Amino acid sequence: MNKIKYFLRAVVLSIRIKSPLSFIVSIAGFAAAFLPMLISLQLRSFTNYVQKLFDNPDTLNTVIFSFAVLAVMYIVQTVFSLVQSYFSTQDSSGIKLYIKEQMLSLLSSVPYKYIENHGDFRKKVDFVKTYAGEKTAGSVSLIFVWISGIISFISIAVILSAVNFWIVAILIVTCIPAVILANMQKDETYRWRTKWMKEGALTIHYSDMCRQNDPMKEIRFFGIYPYIKEKWRRLSKEYIAKKNKVSRKHVIYNSIADLLRNGVYLIVVIITAWEIYQNPAKGLGTFMLVITAAGQMQSITTTLLINAVGIFSDVKYMEDFFVLLETEKEEKSDDTGSFDDVTIEFENVNFAYPNSDFLALDGLNVKIKQGEKIAVVGANGSGKSTFVNLLCGLYTPQSGSAKINGVEIADNLSKARKSLSVIFQYFCQYQDTLRNNIAISDPSRAGKDDEILELARQTGADEIIKNQENSLEEMIGIFSDEGNNLSGGQWQKVAITRALFRKNARVYILDEPTAALDPIAEANIYRNFASLTGDKTTILISHRLGVTSIVDRILVFDKGKIAEDGNHAELIAKNGVYAKMYRAQAKWYE
Ligand code: ADP
Ligand code: MG
Repeated sequence: MNKIKYFLRAVVLSIRIKSPLSFIVSIAGFAAAFLPMLISLQLRSFTNYVQKLFDNPDTLNTVIFSFAVLAVMYIVQTVFSLVQSYFSTQDSSGIKLYIKEQMLSLLSSVPYKYIENHGDFRKKVDFVKTYAGEKTAGSVSLIFVWISGIISFISIAVILSAVNFWIVAILIVTCIPAVILANMQKDETYRWRTKWMKEGALTIHYSDMCRQNDPMKEIRFFGIYPYIKEKWRRLSKEYIAKKNKVSRKHVIYNSIADLLRNGVYLIVVIITAWEIYQNPAKGLGTFMLVITAAGQMQSITTTLLINAVGIFSDVKYMEDFFVLLETEKEEKSDDTGSFDDVTIEFENVNFAYPNSDFLALDGLNVKIKQGEKIAVVGANGSGKSTFVNLLCGLYTPQSGSAKINGVEIADNLSKARKSLSVIFQYFCQYQDTLRNNIAISDPSRAGKDDEILELARQTGADEIIKNQENSLEEMIGIFSDEGNNLSGGQWQKVAITRALFRKNARVYILDEPTAALDPIAEANIYRNFASLTGDKTTILISHRLGVTSIVDRILVFDKGKIAEDGNHAELIAKNGVYAKMYRAQAKWYE
């Protein structure tokens, strides 16, 4: 039942996407479905006329006319099938595009936990992107193929039974093994494709490494191309070997089916010879008719049956697509405004990343009021970035609560996000203009050059803008024709500017924002810190302990918890983790 539902959904979808002209062509296909029968009949009369020509040379004109009709039929058939295949290519690229787009929207709307690691969800998305479009596009053409196929089938069956009923019966029965084999082949292909998706993706990953800048640098420097190549080659070989194993099996299937079909052909020829022998009036034309019609009958019957049976394996692809679309979405509320003031409250938050038992946050408790200036410090892996992930609603706690203004962040996600602005530790470098790299956090204000430039002056990004021939309009990154890629630190300045440009945000979260900045650039930002952040809450994650002098509260993370909480003087006096960290850095400057 479910299968029928998914099939019908695929049909409705492909009809929606199909162009009207393509519809007309498909309908015209019903008339064209009579062509195989007409051609067989015409071949028969042509052959019979030729046979008569030996006795009566006057009939030459009739022969020529008959030949001309035959030629026109062939031409019509060829032209029509060209037109049909043109439209079916168009339809199928339309659907493939649609499905890819759906997959992109899905990737951007499911909870982030599905994304970070290449798990089942990502595998399914890749699978659907690669295969489902074709199968879904096929669903509607299947219906037209069925209807035209049945028309052709009946019309040919009628003319063949007129010669001898057994010809039709034998042809149909012997198609069945071919159908069974074809169906097994489809099932095996589906199983194979779903089973080895990750291996395929990993193979692509290794070949992609040779197309990306950063890996390519290391590959050259360490001279590890042979190592990468070996990895890629081994994976490809394994992948191809698995694929070949299945293909070899399928070659055997196809050969058996062919052998059977050809054998039957010989039987049909004998039966026809017998009929003509019995009744010579039928003429040699009957031979021509049977030979062409039998071939067509075989291929039409096989196609019809394969499509009828194969729909069950094809529906699996469509099902995968529709089921995937039903994956939970992260957004649960329609409230998209932003808060005037933000109180952040984490209570006993426990959190482990998907498929992991390790508590990256282990009973975290913290309350942050509007306007507080906070530094978050702590060893690598102590949970700082994880805290940011939860604060931004990218993950939800396994237990405990992560709230903004008394509401779970996940339950009011849009509003919470609108009230925050963030630079993640690994932020994005948009291959776009400088303007868009900055204003993308608040697109409605993208045209306010004064505001962008004033902010850039305070963050230090103005130096970058000034250096560009086209100022804010300059395209930056690896796609720039003028070689305007930025250094790591310059990108970071752009990212800081982007985060601070989001006007309605009440909280800035900056995860190691100055890690790549030179000391002067960093000092410049600290100097402007008060004016840059105003009355907004600021959560600054940093290993540079200098930062602790411009904030009024320091949270020290240790193994997923807050180990210490206070200002610089208090924590030094406490002589705990913070004091130790501080001394470790300070001793080099004494
Ligand atoms: P940091 O304090 O250095 O920012 P993180 O919050 O990034 O630390 O990481 C905290 C812990 O969570 C680490 O032990 C890390 O190995 C683990 N972790 C981080 N990201 C992932 C992930 N995507 N999947 C599994 N574990 C992760
Ligand atoms: Mg981190």
